[in-house]
Amino acid sequence: MPLITAVRVADTIAGMRRAREEMCGTVGLVPTMGYLHEGHLSLVRRSRRDNDYTVVSIFVNPTQFGPGEDLSRYPRDISRDLGLLEKLGTDVVFSPPPEDMYYEDASSWIVVEKVTDRLEGAVRPGHFRGVATVVGKLFNIVEPHRAYFGQKDAQQVVVIQKIVADLDFNLEVVVCPTVREPDGLAMSSRNSYLDSEQRRAALVLYHSLQKAQREYSAGVRDAGRIRREMAEILQSEQLAEVDYISVASPLTMEELDTVEDQALVSLAVKIGKTRLIDNIVLGG
Ligand code: AMP
Repeated sequence: MPLITAVRVADTIAGMRRAREEMCGTVGLVPTMGYLHEGHLSLVRRSRRDNDYTVVSIFVNPTQFGPGEDLSRYPRDISRDLGLLEKLGTDVVFSPPPEDMYYEDASSWIVVEKVTDRLEGAVRPGHFRGVATVVGKLFNIVEPHRAYFGQKDAQQVVVIQKIVADLDFNLEVVVCPTVREPDGLAMSSRNSYLDSEQRRAALVLYHSLQKAQREYSAGVRDAGRIRREMAEILQSEQLAEVDYISVASPLTMEELDTVEDQALVSLAVKIGKTRLIDNIVLGG
């Protein structure tokens, strides 16, 4: 059924390129997997402020999901997304089907080494290869002047900054702050998986980050102690199962013994079957 909307939708690469050719002025790109929330919309608003045109991509990228992850049940609601984007004044929504993005005989990937060895990269092998490849493709298809990403996915930001620097993509990466629910839970499309009991339990991620912030503000610089204090809070929540707690260099993702300059405090926690991530930067 054709979607009735005032936003221009390009659902093929050729269609996106045609729309791009008509744009004379600066172009901002906001890559998303859809099921939009205020976090996504904050990136769109920022792009609208910075650029003459804003392109939002909606693509649930199969190559960044591992076997047994939530690709098939990832939440989708394209009509609702288009309504939200129309209200914000998005110029083009690029939402290709997977077979248009990945050719049957494709055998090229963008692989970022080192910074992907840890954290999300260690727990989700192949994840960042999928992310880097699809974002690289989006950069080549949309040719934006600026691309917008959320601090919510801190390691993803570092990976994107690496491909832009290493492969000479001619654009600026703009990182936007994490948008939270009023009680502090970081907004995520995956929050829709949580039932009310799990939604309450999910707050433990934010509480543990707040604890890290309080420790740091009180002068604690021992990264091990910060991790232990966070672990204690997380252990107090029965529904939470910790994947990792990290106090690392925001540039290399290497774990720190001592917080000297800045530290990225990040964590991944399963609440039931739902895996949530969050982070803050200390000394930022
Ligand atoms: P996703 O649809 O989850 O792939 O996210 C698309 C973009 O939105 C990524 O750059 C995310 O980092 C960003 N994003 C997701 N959640 C938030 C949030 N709560 N605050 C700010 N940005 C976010």
